[in-house]
Amino acid sequence: MKTNGNGDEARDRQLGMEQRIERRDFLQGTALTVAAAAGGVLPGLVFGAAPAAVTAAQDLPGYYPPARTGMRGSHPGSFESAHALRDDPDFLSGAEDTGERYDLVVAGGGISGLAAAHFYRKAVGANARILLLDNHDDFGGHAKRNEFQVDGKLLIMNGGTAGISSPTPYSPVADGLLKHLGIHPDELAQSTYHPDLYRKLGLGSAVFFDKETFGEDKLVLQPGGRGASAAQTQQFLAGTPLSDVARREILAIETGAIDYMAGLSADEKKDRLSRISYADYLRQVVKAHADVITYYFHRTDGLWGCGIDAVSALDCWGVGLPGFDGLDLPHTATPRMGYTPGKEMETGGSYHYSFPDGNATIARLLVRDLVPGAVPGTTVRDSIAARTDYSQLDRQQNAVRIRLSSTAAHVMNAGDGGVKLTYLRGGKAYAVKARHSVLACWNMMIPFICPELPKAQKDALHYLVKTPLVYTSVALRNWRAFAELGVASVNCPGGYHSGMRLDTVMDIGGYHSARSPDEPVMVHMTRAPAKPGLSEREQHIAGREELLATPFSTFERNIREQMNRVLGGGGFDAARDIAGIAVNRWPHGYAPEYNSLVDPDEGLPLQTARARAGSIAIANADSGGGAYTDVAIDQADRAVQELLAAKSS
Ligand SMILES: Cc1cc2nc3c(=O)[nH]c(=O)nc-3n(C[C@H](O)[C@H](O)[C@H](O)COP(=O)(O)OP(=O)(O)OC[C@H]3O[C@@H](n4cnc5c(N)ncnc54)[C@H](O)[C@@H]3O)c2cc1C
Repeated sequence: MKTNGNGDEARDRQLGMEQRIERRDFLQGTALTVAAAAGGVLPGLVFGAAPAAVTAAQDLPGYYPPARTGMRGSHPGSFESAHALRDDPDFLSGAEDTGERYDLVVAGGGISGLAAAHFYRKAVGANARILLLDNHDDFGGHAKRNEFQVDGKLLIMNGGTAGISSPTPYSPVADGLLKHLGIHPDELAQSTYHPDLYRKLGLGSAVFFDKETFGEDKLVLQPGGRGASAAQTQQFLAGTPLSDVARREILAIETGAIDYMAGLSADEKKDRLSRISYADYLRQVVKAHADVITYYFHRTDGLWGCGIDAVSALDCWGVGLPGFDGLDLPHTATPRMGYTPGKEMETGGSYHYSFPDGNATIARLLVRDLVPGAVPGTTVRDSIAARTDYSQLDRQQNAVRIRLSSTAAHVMNAGDGGVKLTYLRGGKAYAVKARHSVLACWNMMIPFICPELPKAQKDALHYLVKTPLVYTSVALRNWRAFAELGVASVNCPGGYHSGMRLDTVMDIGGYHSARSPDEPVMVHMTRAPAKPGLSEREQHIAGREELLATPFSTFERNIREQMNRVLGGGGFDAARDIAGIAVNRWPHGYAPEYNSLVDPDEGLPLQTARARAGSIAIANADSGGGAYTDVAIDQADRAVQELLAAKSS
């Protein structure tokens, strides 16, 4: 048997990783075994000369990326050609003209790219010919769907974008698109959730203290969760392995109302809070013990992809982190994304709803609308369990075509008022022409793709560093250990993943969550590969490098070990209970958001970065400076309207 070469074979066998590493690591690179077997080539490759006559991987029977496991998100095969191009721009010479002519060619098949196609068609007419290109094996971008079949039960989870929520209400444009697709989030929230199931079974939240960080492995139940009373907080703290001083200080921070900035006006307090990190606020202003900072350090991981050392205290106040009650600050929006304390975190008056696959359902409904026949059914509910027919996406007779595993490599304004776009697929370069192009891809790639842009614009685009993040989906055969321990979610302040939680309980269309702990269930885990001590963007650049260099086997080992340690007291056994894992790695994750610790007072250079260049416009959530679905939709609409306004002026 092949080993993993690091001397951990015995431990891996205990974790149930025996042979799996080999198989999964192999599958990640060659996930389309059908294609490989049939064509003798790697997945995503085009067999034959011109794309009009090709049989692409996505057209082959059995092509179904949502069911793939192992490394997902930015999976192996999705980014290598972009990196090769960055390192050798000559790669493009000799691109083959496909002869295709479109009204619009879109780089990026995430929600922004799909929405751009929708808005363009709405304005120009249903006959508009549109080509969307995406470098991944699936559409949706961050709105990614993970699917598992465990013991005959369909399990679905979001591999990225979790839900319809935003710090501010959806704009009429974004809301209008939801309604056009038949999505009414408030009604769905009323009729599809079963929020009480875990509570009725006596399951709540807990914190897992690990021995490397806190001196001993200990799972401590947290009665009352976020809304805990002072007595409940005291009870929780008494069970932790924290020192007496840390317990006392945390109790004061969470339940007291001390004005740690007495003597300053509210404006002065806010100004100071916007210029120091939350870690420094705790350390220098609250004068908290180092253990207190360790305890809170990863609270912002899920929201901003880094710890509390790299985000401002004011932004942390905005999302409800403790220690500010006594400051008596007026509730106004915070600098980062306009979070307003007092409103529920992350909603700010917006919707709050998640489909089982997160906003992948929005992407799937957009695809159903753009490419009839691709996603069977007619209603939102019947789409949930429907299986996309990928072979419908890139048909010659379609007005809208979606071409996967295709990386936009070069785009230029052609002399005739249109654009020429060159893309890479299967190691070859192809060129298409169109009247317009929307670049709905990650903004920091655009300077490489569109070299004709002015230097100031390229600098602004480069400034916008995305946040790396990992969303891990684990399919379990049962959740008896969770039930035994009385937990549905566990915060792990020192863990490889900073938290894990059972999936939301819901019934929608043909999808039904587990009701009994004996049934299969999905668990979600989050990891932020941040590098404490650096500024937020430096942490993100370093974290991206780490993600790209970390093999699936390392993730898998850490996942299994962490789950065993956290849930072992309830009888959990990773080797027996885990049925499948998808690690959604997002080296280019959340769109960059304003950080008052490092960004100029005037904000991010968004307008300079997204300026239209002739027949090329720039969309993507990056252009709006906010990692939210409504931002991606609004930016798509703006980009399309800019192109159409320019054409008619
Ligand atoms: C882990 C995670 C969780 C999130 N959770 C939420 C949430 O709960 N709610 C919410 O509102 N928002 C959430 N967001 C943010 C939300 O996903 C985004 O704002 C939105 O989906 C972005 O859509 P987009 O189309 O702008 O970008 P993307 O989804 O990134 O799509 C862009 C696509 O373009 C592709 N691309 C890049 N370069 C090229 C190229 N050269 N050629 C071809 N294709 C290219 C990319 O690979 C990608 O597929 C989350 C994001 C992440 C990463």
